[in-house]
Formats: sequence, structure tokens, C-alpha cells
Amino acid sequence: MARYIGPVCRQCRREGMKLFLKGERCYGPKCAVSEEKKRNFPPGQHGQARKPKIVGYGLQLREKQKTKRYFGLGETQFRNLFEKAAAAKGITGDVMLQLLERRLDNAVYRIGFATSRAFARQLVRHGHIKVNGKKVNIPSFTVKPGDEVTVRDKSKENSAILAAREATAHLPSPSWLEVDRENLKARIISLPKREELVQIQMNEQLIVELYSK
Ligand code: SF4
Repeated sequence: MARYIGPVCRQCRREGMKLFLKGERCYGPKCAVSEEKKRNFPPGQHGQARKPKIVGYGLQLREKQKTKRYFGLGETQFRNLFEKAAAAKGITGDVMLQLLERRLDNAVYRIGFATSRAFARQLVRHGHIKVNGKKVNIPSFTVKPGDEVTVRDKSKENSAILAAREATAHLPSPSWLEVDRENLKARIISLPKREELVQIQMNEQLIVELYSK
């Protein structure tokens, strides 16, 4: 998968909002798009020039890029997920967001085992996470109601995971998760609800329009 290896804060500046890509830093004054830093203009030489009004295709494209970056997916992965949502029953936009939210790497982040989705993905890839007692090292694995997500026994003393648990203690757990922070485990109790799906403003309808052309 093609991977973005540039400065991640540029992605937030491009979208003009926090995408929460860097863990703890995103909640502090060092965040590039925070009130203190005031660098919420697009990156590059002409970033501070007068902003052109974005309409139509441009608007749809930005919405797709924003969502893709927020969840840390590549173009092909994102497109495949959209196709899966389009083929499923229900409103395509809602199903798409639900599938994104139910990815194992996202669930690990939402539970609070990691401070960012990138770190959560690494934890999954390196085999630190179990689903229903079995190691799962596929970040795109889709969790479902009834599943139990845990940190494997060997990794329960992992300092990075323990530090992440401390750092994310102030974040509220979404209602679709029952989190036992002490024992580093969580249960999926329902499907994610639309109003809780993402921490940022998102218009999934624009993405559906973009891919339906
Ligand atoms: Fe950087 Fe996080 Fe702020 Fe985005 S939200 S600009 S990734 S610190």
C-alpha cells in the first residue's frame, strides 16, 4: 500500500481542521491548527493566499481525502471499503462510516490502547491484540457486536500501551464499547451510532456522490 510519509500535521492544515493523527500532541497547544499556533492555513508557498471558494467536485474530493486521512487509509483500501458499503443493505454513507469505525485498528484506538490510529495499527500488526482470545494482526479486521478485544497477556506490561492507557483516560468511550481499562479489554456491545461515529464534522453524502459519478 502506498503510504504517506510526509509531516502528518500538513494533512490537518490541508483540510483546515484537526484530524487527530498524532496522539497526545493533538490535544495540546503544540497542535499546528490549535488556537495557540494559528497555522490552520493550507501548507505550501501559497497557503496564506486568499482561499478560492471550493464547490462541486472539489468539495466532494476534499471530503473524501479528509475521511481517508482521518482513518489512515490508502486510496485503494478506501475505495474497496466504499464498494463493500455500496453493496450492503442500508444507506451507503452510514454503512461506510460504520465499516470504517468497526475496523480493528480504529476500535483499538477508540478503546484507548493507543493514542492514535497509526499507533493502534502498529499494535495490531505486531500481534499485541486478540479478538475473542485469538491473535488478530489484520488492521482492517471488522469487529462485530459480542466480540471481545484484549491486549495479549505478554503485552500487558508493554510500557507504550500502558502509557497510552494513561494518556487517553480523559477521552470518553463511545457507547458501542464497554471498556475495562484496568484489565486492558473491551467488548463490542452494539453497532456504532451515526452521531458517535467520528470526532470531526463529516459529510459522507459528498463521498457517495463522488464515487457514484
Ligand atoms: Fe498535528 Fe494532531 Fe494537530 Fe493534526 S490534530 S495538526 S496531527 S497535532
